[in-house]
Amino acid sequence: MKLQEADAKTLLVAQGLPVPDWAVAHTALEARLAAERLFTIGVAAVVIKAQVLVGGRGKAGGVKLARSVDEAEAISTAILGMDIKGMTVRKVLVAAAADIAAEFYLSAVLDRAERRILLMGSAEGGVEIETVAAENPSAIVRRHAHPNLGLLDFQARELAFAMGLGGHLRDAVRIAKGLVATMKAYDADLVEINPLAIVRETGPDGGLVERLVCLDAKITLDDSALGRHVGLEELRDPDEEAPEDKEAREAGLTFIKLDGSIGCMVNGAGLAMTTMDLVKRAGGEPANFLDIGGGARSDKVAEAMRLILADPKVNAILVNIFGGITRGDEVARGLIDARAQQERDVPMVVRIVGTNADEAGRLLEEAHFETALTLDEAAAKAVDASRAAGASA
Ligand code: GDP
Ligand code: MN
Repeated sequence: MKLQEADAKTLLVAQGLPVPDWAVAHTALEARLAAERLFTIGVAAVVIKAQVLVGGRGKAGGVKLARSVDEAEAISTAILGMDIKGMTVRKVLVAAAADIAAEFYLSAVLDRAERRILLMGSAEGGVEIETVAAENPSAIVRRHAHPNLGLLDFQARELAFAMGLGGHLRDAVRIAKGLVATMKAYDADLVEINPLAIVRETGPDGGLVERLVCLDAKITLDDSALGRHVGLEELRDPDEEAPEDKEAREAGLTFIKLDGSIGCMVNGAGLAMTTMDLVKRAGGEPANFLDIGGGARSDKVAEAMRLILADPKVNAILVNIFGGITRGDEVARGLIDARAQQERDVPMVVRIVGTNADEAGRLLEEAHFETALTLDEAAAKAVDASRAAGASA
């Protein structure tokens, strides 16, 4: 689950990281009032930022500075409702504009291969890290945090020096360790600060002081760990989730869309993976991973079928059910109902074994379904059906 910048910043602040104050506005008037409060306390400019779950908002015109209350309102009017990479902007973040002296990149990601948190830093801030990795890979500094001890002080210092942050060592060390703490506190997959910026501010004695702050924040949480954290699920932005992901989640199905043409409906994650492997071995490409779970009733089966058929690339369907808690006859009834309602006619191969398989077989035969006894046979039939459909299309 991806968090909006404002929510990500809330989590960073909770871990003690330096983030300039902000407000969130849903209307231009709210943005105007937020800007007015900032101008009243003497800031020279405010920054208005589109809150959408994509990167590169700045380049797309979704990040703008305003020097007056009127300008803040006008910019917010322009940004709210704007389309950025297919996402409609429904809210903006309003903050005192930072006076940026330099921009850096710093992130923590879960490195699954190393089974550790990986810190990545670069002096090329404000630029997408994929671009830096492609064009100037040596500009990226990497350090793995210790699984138990976290990021050690010397590692954080090495990272900071290599990034050119030697002049802000204490802050840089604190922030790098803070990213690791944020990863652990919320079971995040990614915490990315781009830019991490040296900003100039007026100090208590009226002189200029420099400070290191997190100007942008991107956090991705592990969906499977949300149950361990109170209040994080509420941060999910319903607008931003792909419609098929939302439908699947609400129906209690595990659904991951892939690029192939053979829709797969299976119960159990392991069996779903095996089914995909066998489809591939038979020369086909699965269109999805779909686990309908244990004890799936017929309405769940119908919902799963709708999800599969919503993908225009699907031209054949393979149903593979191993009945334990799940009753084969229930699934068969669900398939028969689903086919009666479906808008698109796609060849389907069904293999149901285990609990009530005989009853399921009888129902499917009466309804003239194509069935298979073994998984190899089912995969081969599905691949043939997909090829035939592809050839005639
Ligand atoms: P992104 O484009 O979606 O990553 O949005 P960012 O929040 O990273 O903003 C993009 C760029 O806008 C940054 O790299 C900065 O150069 C600039 N920017 C963002 N906030 C401020 C600010 O407070 N003051 C100034 N002067 N520039 C800012
Ligand atoms: Mn950014």
